[in-house]
Amino acid sequence: MPSEAPQLAPGLYLVATPIGNLGDITLRALDVLRRVDRIACEDTRQTQKLLNHFEIATPTVSCHEHNERARAAELIAEIERGAAIALVSDAGTPAISDPGGQLVRAALASGVPVVPIPGANAALGALVASGLPAASFHFFGFLPEKAGARRSFLEELAASAQADARKPAPTLIFYEAPHRILDTLADMEEIFGGLLHAVVARELTKIHEEFLRGTLAEVRRELAARERVRGEMVLLVESPRPQPSVPAPGAESASEKIAGRVARLVAEAGIDEKEALKRLARELGRSKSDLYRELQRERARRR
Ligand code: SAM
Repeated sequence: MPSEAPQLAPGLYLVATPIGNLGDITLRALDVLRRVDRIACEDTRQTQKLLNHFEIATPTVSCHEHNERARAAELIAEIERGAAIALVSDAGTPAISDPGGQLVRAALASGVPVVPIPGANAALGALVASGLPAASFHFFGFLPEKAGARRSFLEELAASAQADARKPAPTLIFYEAPHRILDTLADMEEIFGGLLHAVVARELTKIHEEFLRGTLAEVRRELAARERVRGEMVLLVESPRPQPSVPAPGAESASEKIAGRVARLVAEAGIDEKEALKRLARELGRSKSDLYRELQRERARRR
């Protein structure tokens, strides 16, 4: 049905769409989607279902991670000629773990107005209902897919844990796939310690919406006991506790002996550093990740 409302001002409109429940589309989103000249979509077929549901006949064009750069030039030229263009992703807010960032930067660089049309977002929906502190949070999107890279990322995160007790420790927010959630929880349990509070928010806004709350260990056990873990999910964890303070440079301390002991084990037992850390951790009655962090700090001091 053609709209009789006046034309929208030229610009790029970032329109949030529902993350599962069509009732979450906003009145303003519907109005903008009806009145723009074109809708740039992460997946035109996906967005078409939404447009059909709301009887919106605006033409669509694809704009996804593989063509975003090239498409940006074309869309910006169109806006400069007076067009209003909407950008939508498959679900939720564009540019949040979704395409859009490049287009926004290119639009701003060309002096084209960028207008947010806020709405659904899985991270924020999960955070506000999680029960974890919401005054300060750190959103990471998806963790690296490969186990080694993911563990290194988490180890660095633990090493840089908030040390100033006067500042609120941020809640950490991750997007995670159902087939990786158990491995990620197990890694966090080992690296952060199993006692941190965690929440898995699953299938938000859908019929089977669910919040699993508990310690990292409890949440992992609860999910592991299921026959299958499915659905879309957000993982929220309280910040890892601060590490013990780093000794002054040059001071003789137990931590400064870690590198030497690791090197000796590697040379004498013919094992790699990872295995050496494991053995040393057993010997000292400490966690491997704790020793690893000390080793990293020691090396950083020597640089
Ligand atoms: N741009 C989206 C947003 O604003 O939330 C996120 C897109 S990202 C490609 C998709 C990920 O978001 C999913 O893998 C899941 O981690 C999370 N997600 C999206 N919808 C969700 C839902 N209904 N419930 C829980 N998590 C969801």
